[in-house]
Amino acid sequence: MKNRDIFVGGKWQQGRGQQMQSRFPGDNHVVATLNSASLEDVEDAVIAAEKAWRDPKWRHMSSHQRAAILLKVSTLIDEQREELVRLQTLDNGKPWAEARGLVMSAAATARYFAAVCEVSGGELPPRRQPDIMTLSTYQPLGVIAAITPWNSPIASDMQKIAPAIAAGNAVILKPAEATPLVSLKLAELFEQAGLPAGLLSVLPGKGSIIGDALVRHPLVRKISFTGGTNTGRQLAHIAADKLIGTSLELGGKSPTIVLDDADLDLAAHGVCYGIFSSMGQACIAGSRLFVARSVYQAFIEKLTKLTQGLIIGDPRQERVHIGPLISSAHRDSVIAYVSQAIAEGGKIRVGGKVPTDPALQSGHYFEPTIIEGLTNQAHVCQEEIFGPVLVVIPFDDETSLIHDANDSIYGLAAGIWTQDYTRAFKLADTLDVGTVWINTYKVFSISTPFGGFKDSGLGREKGLESLKAYMQQKSIFLALNPQPNRWCE
Ligand code: ADP
Repeated sequence: MKNRDIFVGGKWQQGRGQQMQSRFPGDNHVVATLNSASLEDVEDAVIAAEKAWRDPKWRHMSSHQRAAILLKVSTLIDEQREELVRLQTLDNGKPWAEARGLVMSAAATARYFAAVCEVSGGELPPRRQPDIMTLSTYQPLGVIAAITPWNSPIASDMQKIAPAIAAGNAVILKPAEATPLVSLKLAELFEQAGLPAGLLSVLPGKGSIIGDALVRHPLVRKISFTGGTNTGRQLAHIAADKLIGTSLELGGKSPTIVLDDADLDLAAHGVCYGIFSSMGQACIAGSRLFVARSVYQAFIEKLTKLTQGLIIGDPRQERVHIGPLISSAHRDSVIAYVSQAIAEGGKIRVGGKVPTDPALQSGHYFEPTIIEGLTNQAHVCQEEIFGPVLVVIPFDDETSLIHDANDSIYGLAAGIWTQDYTRAFKLADTLDVGTVWINTYKVFSISTPFGGFKDSGLGREKGLESLKAYMQQKSIFLALNPQPNRWCE
């Protein structure tokens, strides 16, 4: 809508930066053209945020009242669910049913942090001296920079905004270039819910300019980032110079493991969903599949059949499984990975091409692809493709399996399929990853911490403790029986 391109300090306005477009990846039509934020807009948003979080009306607002705002946001999300789903799907081409799941999870996240906000408090450490009591209290950090990617914007945005606001901070959200719409809509809902002006600003714009200026601003006191590992590392350097904290949710190359005693039907469905939902554009996509050699043939046949049955099409249609990739440039990079896999000796079991259906030619579609015949050393096993490409590798014994599963710079997640939970637990224990799913995959819970080992990230989101990640501790010493201190006499 006109002059609603950015949201700064409680005001809707036209950004003073470059023009940018949101295009529907399903047919490339322009959904919205907006003027992105400029460096001056960043400055205005930070100054407004600093003023807003220090305002005594906000600082002394009871946690009950802050929780009420988050609860109201969750109700508004539920009421406007289909509109949010529409915006999310238009922005990034995610199939409707998946986008709906994300919108529902955003509402649940707001509710969860409302509840956490109500019950969270400080501590009373044990007394070391009879007349001195100490209180350990938690205070907000101040202005938080939240930077999110294009693959699941509404969920990523809320995972940062809700705990940061519950903790009493102000947030400046920089959504990805391709997906500004749902983030702007979220700002509208926070405004309607009564969040005081300045506590949330949304600045669509280029990461290397607007995102960079935001995180470097001296008043920004934490960077909460979800995106690529290279960008995350750059932000960590900036944070190190400023001596501020980061929360980094980065890339992945997650192994899924099918043991010889697995329920193969269950596993085939789970593996198929784990890699091909969201067209593989998920940091947790199960993109490396290790299958026990004794069940390899039986399993790959089941998986191939399921993959061939996936419906590719317009993501706005309810029954579609596979929508478009985010952009033609991104599809080109997926195609290049598939070509490289073939050059390294990989055999395409299924997919590997742009679909020929004439109805799909204006979008950035790519067939779900399974590649065999490679080892874990292949480029496609070591690098994150962020597309619908699965590499399958047979294994003979658990020692080599564990070695290969852990032989990655990433450590985000893993899946294990077996009917023996003792075996599953022992294996889960040895995997260098932040999340292990056993006989399921890609399920989330806002009450369970999420984050990566190794190059997959730093810090955890979700869970009770994540509120404290947006706070700093202050210790207060109270003399119960004040006596003159005779030292200077
Ligand atoms: P992806 O590969 O998922 O696009 P990126 O790391 O490039 O991952 O982008 C994730 C988010 O980080 C986006 O909002 C993007 O605009 C932002 N971003 C990219 N580069 C920078 C940077 N140098 N400084 C701050 N933010 C950035």
